Amino acid sequence: MIIIPGTDLYLGLSGAHGKADPLPENALFLDQIHGNRVVANPAGGERADGMIIERGCGIPALRVADCLPVFAVWDDFTGAAHAGWRGLAGGIIENLIVAVNSQLRWLILGPCICGDCYSVGDEVREAVMAGDPSGARGHLQGKVDLRGSVLRRVRQLCGETFQLINIDECTLESKNLHSFRGDKTVERNFLWLAEIEQGEHIRQLNVETECNSPERRKN
Ligand SMILES: [Zn+2]
Repeated sequence: MIIIPGTDLYLGLSGAHGKADPLPENALFLDQIHGNRVVANPAGGERADGMIIERGCGIPALRVADCLPVFAVWDDFTGAAHAGWRGLAGGIIENLIVAVNSQLRWLILGPCICGDCYSVGDEVREAVMAGDPSGARGHLQGKVDLRGSVLRRVRQLCGETFQLINIDECTLESKNLHSFRGDKTVERNFLWLAEIEQGEHIRQLNVETECNSPERRKN
């Protein structure tokens, strides 16, 4: 559990061995499809790879095993995106960041396969490099650095105005995290961003009426 300084939020992580914060029952997972769609105030299960949620109206959560879990905090929203090479190439990070029209306060990058371990074919590398401000310079030959590319993309949009929590741990090298490339596992690491006392708040809240924002009605 990582407390996000200056907020009432924490990042929870449940991985393989001995790394398990208790996952809140009401955590909101998407049906992740390696796309670039970001939904607002999801009910859970939407076919999308990013979400934004009004603060206090839900717990954004991701399941990953090598892709990069990205969380964002604004004054009035939290957000999350599942960023593998396909989502990155499609613009999932840009779509997440521009979904909220206010200053990004925190960017939180969770564990993913690192830029030394992630070997890819030329097509994949070129697809990721295409929208990456540093292009080929940001990636080793034959590899893709998801973490670096996400950070550069966010900085291109937001400058240096946000604070960063970077959990620079490689899922493939770590014994404590599930890795699809390492184990061909169907298991996933779960990460979520919740208010420290949110479990209680959510039970008291009528989500349908209290969180019925314009974005939610559109979706
Ligand atoms: Zn690695």
